[in-house]
Order: sequence, then C-alpha cells, then structure tokens
Amino acid sequence: MRVARYVHDGEVAFGIVEVAAADGPTNGAGDETLTVAEIAGHPFGPIGFTGVRHALGAVKLLAPVLPSKVVAIGKNYAEHASEMGGDVPEQPLIFLKPSTAVTGHGDPIAYPPSSQRVDYEGELAVVIGRLCRDVPEERAMETVLGYTCANDVTARDQQKSDGQWSRAKGYDSFCPLGPWIQTEVDIDDLRVTTEVNGEVKQDGRTSQIVHKVPKLIAYVTSCMTLLPGDVILTGTPAGVGPVQVGDEVSVEIEGIGRLSNRVVRR
Ligand code: MG
Repeated sequence: MRVARYVHDGEVAFGIVEVAAADGPTNGAGDETLTVAEIAGHPFGPIGFTGVRHALGAVKLLAPVLPSKVVAIGKNYAEHASEMGGDVPEQPLIFLKPSTAVTGHGDPIAYPPSSQRVDYEGELAVVIGRLCRDVPEERAMETVLGYTCANDVTARDQQKSDGQWSRAKGYDSFCPLGPWIQTEVDIDDLRVTTEVNGEVKQDGRTSQIVHKVPKLIAYVTSCMTLLPGDVILTGTPAGVGPVQVGDEVSVEIEGIGRLSNRVVRR
C-alpha cells in the first residue's frame, strides 16, 4: 500500500495511491495512470475509504506524515563514514531534526544565506505506526507503518563549525519526505540513488546499512518514546555533495518512490 497525504480543493487528506482503472478520472496532464483513494481520518489504524477518488496529478502531495520528531542516524554506511573522515560508530549516532524542517515532494528546499555549503543526503526513512518505548529488537518491526524517501539536507559548513548539528540539520525545508509511505516492501537490499539535475551522485544499497532498522528502533526507543508518524532516517550512502540554488535534487528508492525538490534561495 502507498499512503499519501495531499491537499485537494483546500482540504488535506490521507489516501491510498493506486493504479487507475482504464476508465478512471483524468486531468489531461498524463498523470491519470495513478489515482488516490481518500481514506477516512488517518492511516495509523484500520483503514476505511470515503469513496472519494482523485487522479494523482489533480492533487498536491504533502509530506506523507507530520512527525512530532525526526530522529536521524549519522554515519551508518561505512563508505560514507569514511568520506566524512571516520568510521561507523559502535552504537548508532542519533540526532534530531525539528518537525518544522519537514517538507513534501515537489516543495522547495530553501538555501539559507548563512551557509556557503548545503549538501543533499538521500536516505531510507522509517515511518513509525504506533506509540512505542523500550521496544525489543525482535519486536521492532511491529512498530513500523512503512517507508519513504528522505533527504537529510545539511549545511555542511555549519555542521563542522558549530560542533553539534541542530542548526546545520534543522533549517526549514531541510527534511523533504515522500512522495508517499510504502507499507509493503522488503527493505533488506533496496537501491538508493540521489540525482542532482538528473546526474547520479549517490548510488547505494540498504544492505550496506550498518546498524539495521530493528536495532535503530530498539536503540532510539530505549531513549525516547516514538509517536505515530515519527520518522527515523537511517543514514546516507557515500557520495554526498553540494547543491546550488536552481538545482533539482531527487532521492529514489527502489520499490518505494522518487522524491524531488528544487533548491531556491531563502
Ligand atoms: Mg544523514
């Protein structure tokens, strides 16, 4: 199931993205092969449909969840840790991105004037489906609603100069998520690519993740309660690099989707 959050005619709703029937609604823009079936309420429980359906091209996708927090993992792919001049830490290295950094597919990434070096970081994002604390690793996957693509946008110069990462990782729009949540995908070995203006910059696989998702959930929830809609970013593969104003950055994960955002001047 692909769970999207979107706005149509000023109304925000969750819906399930489906391949349209041949006689389904169209918007004339060529996007009519996918539709979104509106669900009643939210996706964190039994799902009921309202019967309303739109062509995907007729809605504006939003970030698929509004997390209370985004917990991110640093240096969780060996080659990326090495390009940053270190090793993968023995225990997961966690930091927070504020909920206000979250933005959706197609929304701009705002390049702040205070930074001279803003980088993309394509990542697999885990969306938590229920309130949980002190989750044992063996039961961690029970807490997962699904997965989406993320870009852990980073003001690299400030990450280095500040010594801790809240500002560098926390600017508004520095956490694109989307385009939707895929609830049925095996994440053991998925290709993760990041493109800038169509050129592949990162090309990794989730099999290269060192601290795996169940361990991350156990580790994070041994510290803090996770709420439905909270997000864990699992770290980025090698190949991080800068973006410039005007660039289009796309993070694509096999079996999940493609998240694209343009960089604009803040
Ligand atoms: Mg990252």
